Amino acid sequence: MTAVREHLGPDTPLMVDANQQWDRATALRMGRRLEEFDLIWIEEPLDAYDAEGHAALASALDTPIATGEMLASVAEHERLIAARACDIIQPDAPRVGGITQFLRLAGLAHHAGLTLAPHFAMEIHLHLAAAYPTEPWVEHFDWLNPLFEERLEIADGRMMVPDRPGLGITLSEQARAWTTETVEFGTR
Ligand SMILES: [Mg+2]
Repeated sequence: MTAVREHLGPDTPLMVDANQQWDRATALRMGRRLEEFDLIWIEEPLDAYDAEGHAALASALDTPIATGEMLASVAEHERLIAARACDIIQPDAPRVGGITQFLRLAGLAHHAGLTLAPHFAMEIHLHLAAAYPTEPWVEHFDWLNPLFEERLEIADGRMMVPDRPGLGITLSEQARAWTTETVEFGTR
């Protein structure tokens, strides 16, 4: 962390993602040691369903806690929000049941004063984040690029919301081929 911070300088936002790999004691110890780096957040320090553990960590540390990407419904996010388990909530629209469900939980998150940082699928989440009342984060992944004809415009660390209809993306020829070609199994 020291090397990364020195390399980037003091002004570049920096986060740590533990991907649920710490237990509560380790997360607290690591969180305390990471305070000096002025992180924007520590992500998924604990098991995704350990709302109480996240809440204890969030109140013990100055560094904001982010989580929520693994949760699969509005109800699961409601439990997280009610437990005050995080400062930044990271819902995944495809995982919670789509845009309508995402917007339901975004309303709850805003009411609780949380920052929004949706997980993955930036092509959908850019629009949903732009509709959030306070400034959100959007994760940048180019993994889905082969599926679409268009590319999101990114400049100075910001993504531009496309002005094309709908989500502003159309399926690529490659995506059509992947979803319409037939494959036979068990033949030589
Ligand atoms: Mg993550």
